[in-house]
Amino acid sequence: MSTVEATDVRNYGHYIGGQSAPPSQQTIERVSPADGRVVATFSAGRRSDALEAISVARRAFDAGDWPRRTAMERGRVLLRCAALMAENAEHLARIDAEESGKPITLARGDVGASIELFEYAAALAMTIHGEAHTALGDDCTALVVREPAGVVGMIIPWNFPLLLLAQKLPFALGAGCTAVVKPSEFTSGSAIELARLLSEAGVPDGAVNVVTGVGSAVGAPLAESREVDILSFTGSTETGRRIVEASAGSVKRLSMELGGKAASVVFEDADLDDALDGVLFGVFFNQGECCVSGARLLVQDSIADAFLERLVEAASRIAVGGPLDDASELGPMIDSGHLEKVLGHIETARRDGAEVLTGGERLTGSDWAEGHFVGPTILDGVREDSAAFQEEIFGPVLTVTRFRDVDDAIRLANATEYGLAGSIWTKNIDKALRVAKEMRSGRVWVNTTIDGAPQLPAGGMKQSGFGREMGQAGFDEFTDVKTIQIRTGARKRVFPQWTGGQR
Ligand code: NAD
Repeated sequence: MSTVEATDVRNYGHYIGGQSAPPSQQTIERVSPADGRVVATFSAGRRSDALEAISVARRAFDAGDWPRRTAMERGRVLLRCAALMAENAEHLARIDAEESGKPITLARGDVGASIELFEYAAALAMTIHGEAHTALGDDCTALVVREPAGVVGMIIPWNFPLLLLAQKLPFALGAGCTAVVKPSEFTSGSAIELARLLSEAGVPDGAVNVVTGVGSAVGAPLAESREVDILSFTGSTETGRRIVEASAGSVKRLSMELGGKAASVVFEDADLDDALDGVLFGVFFNQGECCVSGARLLVQDSIADAFLERLVEAASRIAVGGPLDDASELGPMIDSGHLEKVLGHIETARRDGAEVLTGGERLTGSDWAEGHFVGPTILDGVREDSAAFQEEIFGPVLTVTRFRDVDDAIRLANATEYGLAGSIWTKNIDKALRVAKEMRSGRVWVNTTIDGAPQLPAGGMKQSGFGREMGQAGFDEFTDVKTIQIRTGARKRVFPQWTGGQR
């Protein structure tokens, strides 16, 4: 086992028009959530910074060459960027690990997945095409073309700083759009590094811009501005609602990737070893700070007690530790406010009658003294109408609720306002497919969890949002469909008398 050396403090300014601006006078200091060390500073952007970035991106779209380059050229730039990301993979992983607190091994996985997204988006960019309608009559031909949709505002949360940006940016660029990116104020480093790599790969100045700062200052203008054609947001449902309201005056296209409260449904006929591993991974991956986290275990009555016993035992083997330790499997909460929120949820669950089977507290031993660590927590007997079952906790906290049969499982799986993802564990294909079809969520996993591929779209239903990222559907979000209809030969007049003909 090894520990990666901490890097020096990185100081970032905005990235606008292909230039790294020096850090502004007012900065946001980012401290490691594991030990309180300062790891980076970002410019605390103002509204005027966001407006400047928007106007630069607008010019790059309206008059620049990026939207007008051939599909092959755009695809090649994305592939070059993927190669540069691979060359800089360890650097990018460290930045995300240091700023977010996630274990470095997971951050490396995020970088690998991000590179694949760039490669896949390049393939889609290269194969973009429209339709020709040639059977509309002898005198009519029509083209249905896909054009780049314009300037895209991208607002990103802190839990997967690079990966969630990579679910948007290469797809938008591949389609020919230009962008203004607003990363989380906790984790802005990798977005700026990525913009620099894109520039090196051949994206022209102004096509990708990054403004850092808090949401009310630099995020809100992206929602409000009429110069922004699409706002692609990933974050909480609460902020999402604010963004929908703020965007109303500009009537723009929105893509909303919001919160979730996914269920892991374990049937008695599952491979219980696989289910055990899947349930643990589903909830403790990325310390539970994951929108598709399987935060609710729904387990069939007949196997519940034995399964829980194994689950509690297995949870005790999870290695909690600092982000730069290769052995670490579960890192700290993003900041003290979030730590308090997670602990508050656990306390409320206790009061609502849940039994804490393991964890449930802040870890305060010498290894964790300065950090915001919560141990893997399992809460049994969580009622359907309780806050712990209904609300997104966004920490390493699993709620357990038992069910009788398939109908009961489906009802419970759908019994929250969210609809982002769900996992089903059974070896019975009829049952698996029935539950998968009845689950009201954008993604359903059968005998797997927190899985995916660049080809597979992701997105929410209900209060988890709308719009899709990744896959062809994710690419199409950044295009406008235009119909060009062409008549040839003499015009067939509906009212010939208007132009001197016979009625
Ligand atoms: P958040 O909503 O607090 O912030 C997300 C982003 O929005 C940040 O960049 C923030 O600065 C910005 N923002 C805040 N207020 C704003 C405003 N008024 N106008 C414009 N921008 C504003 O979310 P978070 O705490 O960073 O991330 C966690 C949340 O994100 C969870 O709810 C999680 O489920 C969700 N999430 C969803 C997905 C998905 O794909 N559906 C993926 C990851 C995270």
